[in-house]
Amino acid sequence: MRYRFLIEGIVQGVGFRPSVYKIAKKLNLKGYVLNSGEGVIVEIEGENRDKFIDILKNNLPPLAKIDKVTFEKLPLKNYRDFEIIHSKNSSKTTFISPDISICDECLKEMFDEKNRRYLYPFINCTNCGPRYTIIENIPYDRKNTSMKKFKMCEKCEKEYNNPLDRRYHAQPISCYECGPRLSLKWKVENGEWEEESGSRKERVGSRKEGVEKRVEERSEEVIQIFKKITKFLKNGKIGAIKGLGGFHLVCDATNKEAVKKLRERKNRPYKPFAMMFKDIEQIKKYCEINEFEEKLILCKEKPIVVVKKKIDLKGIADNIDRYGVFLPYTPIHYLLFEFIDFPIVATSANISNEPIIRSFEELNEKLGDVVDFVLDYDRDIVNACDDSVICGVDEKILTYRLSRGYAPKSFSIDKKIKPNILAVGANQKNTIALSFKDKVILSPHIGDLLTIDAVEYFERTIETFKRLYSFKPDIIIGDLHPEYESTKWAKNQNLPFYQIQHHYAHILSAMFEFNLKGEFLAFSFDGTGYGEDKNIWGGEVFIANENSFKRLYHFKYFSLVGGEKAVKNPSLMAVNLLKNIDENLAKNYKEFNLVKNLDDKNFLKTSSMGRIFDIVAYLGGYIDKNHYEGYSGMRIESFYNENLKTDKRLWAIENEEIDISELIRFVVKNRGNLELIATTFLNTLADIIISISKDIDLPVILSGGVFQNKTLMKSILNKSNKKIYFNQNTPINDGGISLGQIKWGIDNLI
Ligand code: ZN
Ligand code: ZN
Ligand code: FE
Repeated sequence: MRYRFLIEGIVQGVGFRPSVYKIAKKLNLKGYVLNSGEGVIVEIEGENRDKFIDILKNNLPPLAKIDKVTFEKLPLKNYRDFEIIHSKNSSKTTFISPDISICDECLKEMFDEKNRRYLYPFINCTNCGPRYTIIENIPYDRKNTSMKKFKMCEKCEKEYNNPLDRRYHAQPISCYECGPRLSLKWKVENGEWEEESGSRKERVGSRKEGVEKRVEERSEEVIQIFKKITKFLKNGKIGAIKGLGGFHLVCDATNKEAVKKLRERKNRPYKPFAMMFKDIEQIKKYCEINEFEEKLILCKEKPIVVVKKKIDLKGIADNIDRYGVFLPYTPIHYLLFEFIDFPIVATSANISNEPIIRSFEELNEKLGDVVDFVLDYDRDIVNACDDSVICGVDEKILTYRLSRGYAPKSFSIDKKIKPNILAVGANQKNTIALSFKDKVILSPHIGDLLTIDAVEYFERTIETFKRLYSFKPDIIIGDLHPEYESTKWAKNQNLPFYQIQHHYAHILSAMFEFNLKGEFLAFSFDGTGYGEDKNIWGGEVFIANENSFKRLYHFKYFSLVGGEKAVKNPSLMAVNLLKNIDENLAKNYKEFNLVKNLDDKNFLKTSSMGRIFDIVAYLGGYIDKNHYEGYSGMRIESFYNENLKTDKRLWAIENEEIDISELIRFVVKNRGNLELIATTFLNTLADIIISISKDIDLPVILSGGVFQNKTLMKSILNKSNKKIYFNQNTPINDGGISLGQIKWGIDNLI
């Protein structure tokens, strides 16, 4: 009897076939394994054939995931051996893996003096290393990646071709003999760059002295480079280090002068910096983390995890109670932390609102004045990719930014997609999503489409995804907002274009994640989005299903005094709102004279919850300006006290409007009592959601950027006994909009 399996899931490009090969060999089975368009096909004959699938399931390579196994019994063919058959026409839907942090085995080798990759900064294997960031085209073969210019040496080639080797078909395989090399550049007095790189001072004749000698020389070179970096960092210098998806700007996070210098040079006075730590113990010294957060920090994707501060490091995240922290994830990071014992600032190298920088040339052009040294290497980053950002709420994840390690993220759906759909997302935290065959693909974080470079990056990403997935869109879905760059782009494509209201798309994104259908009570709270009545929505309560939504309630409109500028500077908007509630109270604010004669007819109306946070933060005395997105919310959160009783009802519903005039009055009357206001405000929002949920017999969905607020989230989850869905493994902010748009397309156009 011959068994034939079709195995579907994440089974290609993850070392799946070698695992099958090893198990088949061990069980003395004959047959073959083959990659096909639908998945991996395995045929086996032999006595132990019944054991095969269970053993395979228990010994999957770390990145593989089996979704489905189909099985057939067929007549014997009497295979002689077991082999890996190479497919002639590789499938067009080849799974494109996100980049993967260095694995334990590679780490062990890297720090093994006897290994030929001792301290080799580009060590990788079938289970780890760069993927998405080096791929130019499909299929995922070395010749289609930025590794193509490095010709494999004999030893690497042997490993690459041996199914029993842990580097079998690892496309970025390399070593000192044949792979990329580090180079360190630093500024000298006249602003010129001095350089130290292996390739420059190649010693003649060294090749003859054998590989061992070479490893010794090259690892010594690596040591010298990191010793120099260590000296720079200890002297308070600012550097750039090339990572997987772009450069990080770095400096000693414990050196407040260095941090201050970085802020000044980069003209980024307030926005928090993420920090990279040597290990979890070092994180625990500076942060309070629970078991769940520890798990998130240590997980194989190595995202930035937002956690509570324990020791305040000046200049890193002033005035708020948390840090974004992460661990090394490339060999280069690990090498660095062999030499230094302090955490470093590791923030994406870019000009604000622009994409992360990928090359030394661009870095020099845009941030040449910011950095004192640059650790570069000669393997190109083809596709940029920022670090991912998540946080933990109780035992659940909130995703702020889905990028390196997670994206491109692919989902299998139980429907055949035709025509193909492209969703172009929102304008901020833009991502795109594709749907074809039975797949949905979500791109990594692209960013805010507020600059020419960012829009170019958006367009480039669409081109990249069309190429990588051999994808041709038949339909485009975008946001209702006519001024979004993504909308404008879509309108120029001469394809059927559908526009989905922003806050409805938020809700659909959560429905997509949990594969939900049917009716829900949906709370969509965020900064701003274009409403169907042309006002700026953002505090919305819907009854929604996969086809449409009804706006049940919204926060009472107020004037967006200052327009776009109100986001940064909410004072006029805040005092104007107060004036309309209680003129006498408004007189206590210096802006009163500026707003007393304003005519509300001249302003856009908004129900934005994000702006309500800004207003409360301003009127309550938490902020003067909203220095960066999310600042007012985090300021308020940092004063929340869960032991404080706040049971006064400070809101009302009239017709379709949620009125919080009483809450605003309370804020103003208690101005300066930061703990009381913060607790009352967040509890009131939770109370609004819970009360409305009690009255309506439907499961609840929460989505939108405001729910990044983990204190609010926690308070809702703890107090409600209803089934509540919210985005966990997909972005809960505008990064999820493209998925929501795709969801609508799948359920309404296919
Ligand atoms: Zn590895
Ligand atoms: Zn090699
Ligand atoms: Fe939004």
